[in-house]
Amino acid sequence: MNETAYDPQNIFAKILRGEIPAHRVYEDAHTLAFMDVMPQGEGHTLVIPKAPARGLLDADPASLAAVTASVQRVARAVKAAFSADGLTIFQYNEPAGGQTVFHLHVHILPRHEGVPLKRHEGGMADDAVLAEQAGRIRAALDG
Ligand code: AMP
Repeated sequence: MNETAYDPQNIFAKILRGEIPAHRVYEDAHTLAFMDVMPQGEGHTLVIPKAPARGLLDADPASLAAVTASVQRVARAVKAAFSADGLTIFQYNEPAGGQTVFHLHVHILPRHEGVPLKRHEGGMADDAVLAEQAGRIRAALDG
């Protein structure tokens, strides 16, 4: 198998098809944003394109542009919702680059002075906590 082929059974493709649940915070014609279930900090959010792409390198430029616009929109809301001092935004490509889910995604993390990030994929967050945080981000997006 071509190791760079897109696998439509990846977990984010399943979220896009509504086959598995996610705490969705934003959606438009080309992108979806939802809470990371193993957050590296309070408010850890992911933005993905609806178009299939394994990572940055195989994504259609128009899809990348839509993702970037959604990252900015969601990042503003996340910063407001968590009264953050700053934001960390990152995106991994291929296992050597730290990627574990092979549908393009951008991480958004609100940051507070002196508070370190938790370990990548450190542990599952409480579902009720994620639901409350998603509500806060949605409210900030509406505001
Ligand atoms: P990476 O591919 O290394 O950027 O990491 C994938 C990210 O997706 C990790 O931060 C995981 O915690 C997160 N993740 C994995 N499965 C799910 C899921 N079902 N819903 C939300 N986030 C997920």
